[in-house]
Parts: sequence; structure tokens; C-alpha cells
Amino acid sequence: MAKLYFRYGAMWSGKTAQLLMVAFNYQEKGQRAVIIKPALDIKWENRVSTRIWLEKDVDVLAGEEDDIFQIIQSFFPLLNCVLVDEAQFLSARQIDQLQQVVIQLNLPVIAYGLRCDGNQESRSGSCRLLEIADKIEELKTMCECWNKATMNCRFDREGSLILGWEKILIDGMSDVVYRSLCPRCWMSYKEKLSDE
Ligand SMILES: [Zn+2]
Repeated sequence: MAKLYFRYGAMWSGKTAQLLMVAFNYQEKGQRAVIIKPALDIKWENRVSTRIWLEKDVDVLAGEEDDIFQIIQSFFPLLNCVLVDEAQFLSARQIDQLQQVVIQLNLPVIAYGLRCDGNQESRSGSCRLLEIADKIEELKTMCECWNKATMNCRFDREGSLILGWEKILIDGMSDVVYRSLCPRCWMSYKEKLSDE
């Protein structure tokens, strides 16, 4: 029976690289995985890209109002798996549509995304996935102190933590540095801010 998977991790935990590996494995077996990403995520335009040189065009750029179940149904039955990048940017309704894909089309759906954004709050897509996914798996990455990083942080060029993110974060497009930190380091950077 197909399942809805949520594979979450902080930034730099290799989510997109793993998505591309899964797509490649399907293709190698002569099967097809469709790749979806939210249109809200404008970095890399219509591609998914990783910092380890891998990238690929997406099959579907899902707008906020798009019905993902209907879109996937139009590919069916030439399809064996659905892969979603940056799933935190989908709406709760679209996550429900992914569940509909799993149940009614019996296709596995693997959604990759951040559990929390830079304000350490869950966005609609992650929230809903945490509520309804059949399997929730963590992709781990390390903080600079070698503990597990769970917080997504932005720093300015002087090395000060930036609090209060705007809604959509596009890395590499503004004058900030992105780092994943453990809660302990995150708190100590926050304390440094209030000392200043
Ligand atoms: Zn740390």
C-alpha cells in the first residue's frame, strides 16, 4: 500500500539531493517519478537544485490555487512515484490532495521540506504533513558545534543573527548567510543580540 512520507530537515540536510537520488533510482528501473515544487519557491525558477552540483527541471510548478490531485491524475498511469520539494510552501489543502493521490491512485508521495522556517515556526505545508503523513522521517545535519542542527538561521555579513524573517525566504538572493544551528547555539546568538 502506498504511503505519504514527510522527510524533513534543517537547511543543508541534503533534502533536494535525496529527492534527486530517488528520482534517479526510479528512472534507472524504467519507472517514472514526477517532481513537483511550489511556484512560491522562486529560487532556481523551474528547477530543483542542490549545493552539490545536482539539478533537474521540475515536471510541475504548483501554483497556490492548483489542485495537485487533478494534476497528478493527468499524468496517471504513466507514473510510479510523486516527489515534492520545498513542501512547506504548499497549502494545507494541497497536502490533503497529496494524501488523496496516495489513497485513490495508490502512488507513494515523498514530500521534502523544512519543519520550521527561520522564525522557528511551521508553515502551512509542514504543519499539515506533520499532522497527516503516514511516515515522518528526519534528515539530519550538524551545527557548527557538531550537535544536531534543527534551527534555520539567517546572519548578516557581520555575523549577527537576523530575527523576524519575511514570509518567503529565498536563499542566495539577498545579502545574508544561511546557517543551520542547534537550539543551544541559536539561543546563544540570540543572547548576543540582546547584549548589543
Ligand atoms: Zn550548536
